[in-house]
Amino acid sequence: MKIRTRFAPSPTGFMHVGNLRTGLFAWLTARNAGGEFILRLEDTDKNREVEGSANHILECLDMLGLNRDEGLDVGGPYAPYKQSERLHIYRAWAQKLIDSGRAYADPYTAEEVQAFREQAQQEKKAFLYRNHRPENPRAWDGTTPLRFKADPKSYTWHDEVMGELHTGPEVIDDFILIKSDGYPTYNFAHIVDDAEMQITHVIRGQEFISSTPNYLNLYEALGLELPIFATMPHIMNEQGNKKLGKRDGAKDVLSYIEEGYLPETLLSFIATLGWNDGTEQEVFTRQELIDSFSLSRVQKSGARFDEKRLLWMNGQFIRALSNDDLYKRVASYWPASAESADENYKHSVLALAKDRLKTLHDLPTLTTYFFEEPVLDMDLITGNKQLKKLATPDIIAMLQSAMDTFDDLSIWTPEAIQESLNNLLDTTGQKPGVLFSLVRIATTWSPFSPQLNDTLALMGKEKTLKRLENTIQHLSEA
Ligand code: GLU
Repeated sequence: MKIRTRFAPSPTGFMHVGNLRTGLFAWLTARNAGGEFILRLEDTDKNREVEGSANHILECLDMLGLNRDEGLDVGGPYAPYKQSERLHIYRAWAQKLIDSGRAYADPYTAEEVQAFREQAQQEKKAFLYRNHRPENPRAWDGTTPLRFKADPKSYTWHDEVMGELHTGPEVIDDFILIKSDGYPTYNFAHIVDDAEMQITHVIRGQEFISSTPNYLNLYEALGLELPIFATMPHIMNEQGNKKLGKRDGAKDVLSYIEEGYLPETLLSFIATLGWNDGTEQEVFTRQELIDSFSLSRVQKSGARFDEKRLLWMNGQFIRALSNDDLYKRVASYWPASAESADENYKHSVLALAKDRLKTLHDLPTLTTYFFEEPVLDMDLITGNKQLKKLATPDIIAMLQSAMDTFDDLSIWTPEAIQESLNNLLDTTGQKPGVLFSLVRIATTWSPFSPQLNDTLALMGKEKTLKRLENTIQHLSEA
């Protein structure tokens, strides 16, 4: 049997990590088994539709490299893959249910249903549509909802992630198949489509688990074989105590790209939200994921969304890139002053900064002073735990000795600079934390920089001396 999985998003706004993870796990399940991955757009709720969502979905999938074998943008033998273009198909399946006496025209107005609800409440009973089936339903003409006539019973079923699940007949009820606007409900349409499209694995979020017994009932009524079900665990906030919300980072996945995260980081990060390969490995390449993914290693319990881990992982992926590849990726992140700078120089700057980059966005902070004269910012000294304790004359004296030592250097290499920095520690009796921080700030005026000797070497002797001198002058005048 060829494994066929599908990702079936609704075009109702941006995709966050949770949505995309469902797509990723479906894609990985297919790729791991040499199966097929299908993209279907579930656009039957016209009230919730947000313009541009379908393109956004494609962009997100492309960003992670989740290629489709069939679907919305690539077509295939079961086209169309957009539910709003498949209404005739749902009609035909609905007719089968009408013919077998398993669907009826819902005769009630909203007010009448409300009255039933209140009555049930008074009687302290659960409200169920199936307790109000019309005795002589009229023929369905499409102007009222078409409702499924359920067959209440207990179910035990297997979920690849959640294990054995069991429910009683009380959860089974008559639900709407086709709404009065002519569109099918998700409950009906996805079952029809999954059957028509020969889907073998239904991989989706937890919000559908409570409806699954009703789906099982419908599969039976339609005489369909069951697919394999796999329910994804929730994604929790960093503390792990509640579901991830907007405030904890449930935002548009593409905004991470704008913030300077690499697509391969997001792929590995999202894959490890609730899945591991059974080892301690945390960072996975695309091929490693394909090779080792299995639904049986998806955990039941919620997965913690930890942005610090994402940031750390991004640093790992940045360092794993070749310098040339990284150079291409940072093209739009350089400070404006780097625009006309020499390419070779930029390559060298980037090679230095690479070790400290956590996101591509950090590039200007780490490199601007290589391209333009930095603006002196005394807060960097007064806000520094070690440096703020020093009196200005002592700072000036230290900078002056640094200038003198550097001035004496006949070769300007990282090694020579390091040696004179070490000598300076001896002559000034200062700790590296003090001396090196001071020299770094006085020459870069940036809160971070790559390693000091490398930075100064690349900056050049002349610039280094000039900047030290400027700082001394500024401090003397203050
Ligand atoms: N259209 C549903 C959603 O976006 C898909 C659920 C499913 O995968 O079956 O939540």
